[in-house]
Amino acid sequence: MTYELRKPEQTVLECPFCGQKTINATFIPSMLQAATSRSAAGSKTKFYQTKEKYEIQSGCSNCGKSQKEVERALKEGKPDVDKEKKILKRLQEQGFSGEITTKF
Ligand SMILES: [Zn+2]
Repeated sequence: MTYELRKPEQTVLECPFCGQKTINATFIPSMLQAATSRSAAGSKTKFYQTKEKYEIQSGCSNCGKSQKEVERALKEGKPDVDKEKKILKRLQEQGFSGEITTKF
């Protein structure tokens, strides 16, 4: 069972080096994957949240950074805790109730 919050979509990101909107990317949304474990107490389903991410598809046409450099710079960004909370809230509004273990 997989909950899909949003469809993947094409987007344009700001270049982490020069700040111009020049980076073509695909947004891969966060998903929940269910994993059921069985024990003497019965079966229990846990949900694992995958991290939403961007697949970078181009470098920067403004400052000339390559796709690889942009990817690396974006990956090194800090995790956005607020965003994770918002994702959970969105799920709860859709009627989701369960235990979420975030695996990063
Ligand atoms: Zn740039």
